[in-house]
Amino acid sequence: MPAPQCASCHAARAALRRPRSGQALCGACFCAAFEAEVLHTVLAGRLLPPGAVVAVGASGGKDSTVLAHVLRELAPRLGVSLRLVAVDEGIGGYRDAALAAVRRQAARWDLPLTVVAYADLFGGWTMDAVARSTAGSGRSRACCTFCGVLRRRALEEGARLVGATHIVTGHNADDMAETVLMNFLRGDAGRLARGGGLGSRGEGGALPRCRPLQLASQKEVVLYAHFRRLDYFSEECVYAPEAFRGHARHLLKLLEAARPSAALDLVHSAERLALAPAARPPPPGACSRCGALASRALCQACALLDGLQRGRPRLAIGKGRGGRDEEGSSGATPASQ
Ligand code: SF4
Repeated sequence: MPAPQCASCHAARAALRRPRSGQALCGACFCAAFEAEVLHTVLAGRLLPPGAVVAVGASGGKDSTVLAHVLRELAPRLGVSLRLVAVDEGIGGYRDAALAAVRRQAARWDLPLTVVAYADLFGGWTMDAVARSTAGSGRSRACCTFCGVLRRRALEEGARLVGATHIVTGHNADDMAETVLMNFLRGDAGRLARGGGLGSRGEGGALPRCRPLQLASQKEVVLYAHFRRLDYFSEECVYAPEAFRGHARHLLKLLEAARPSAALDLVHSAERLALAPAARPPPPGACSRCGALASRALCQACALLDGLQRGRPRLAIGKGRGGRDEEGSSGATPASQ
């Protein structure tokens, strides 16, 4: 049976059905609709004001590749300028190849690229060294949690280095839904309370962060990359199989099989969630060492580095006094971002 006509231009044959709406579109109309939806997300959420210098967290994976490409298309209309900031976590056999993809993108799109490395920022600690240090303590499953904390700090440092006023990351609706599920499964009311919205306004002196793809499904991100013929790195990080996020991802797939809108429904649920006063986390303070937002004396990154130096890696995951200090500890951010 021939493919139906595109429901938008009525000229070309449809090349796909949009996963959520079922609308049949040709590749060009789908990409135009995808870009228009991201533009609407940014404008309606007032995420990036005109004149913003935007650091795009670039990993070489599909999400950050699509984000950088779409924002580059939209930059003239938004009146923003872009910088790519990549983080080298020091993961042998993985990150070098991913960074090579980021370098190709920067050259192809003529965007400035800065790479910041854990080893330089964190006293010689690479993610491989952290993994070795934590393996004997029964914490190997927490590699991604450690990494998420350090990556958030590294991205902030890189963004400041390039003079950025805002940070954007490539989290899509599926990533956010997984995070909501993980927070529920951990009973982490603090992170559930702050999990909604499209980003953070930059409390405690941090740069404002946002996620322009948060309402886009993973399937559509992949479709966009396909139709725009984007070159990205698709291998999984060597530590990803250990991550708790994998269980949430599996659960989300099961939910989506029964209810295709499950991911977006979870994202919107988190936005509307209201905590009882007794369950609300106390207001955060400042880390006594670096000044970053912290719910204890030290922020998560300083506490982690402190523990590593002492040979006793530790990290409060989840249920502390609200856990407002490091988003990374809400679980592994997908490596492909
Ligand atoms: Fe870091 Fe992501 Fe690898 Fe986990 S999967 S160790 S968060 S790069």
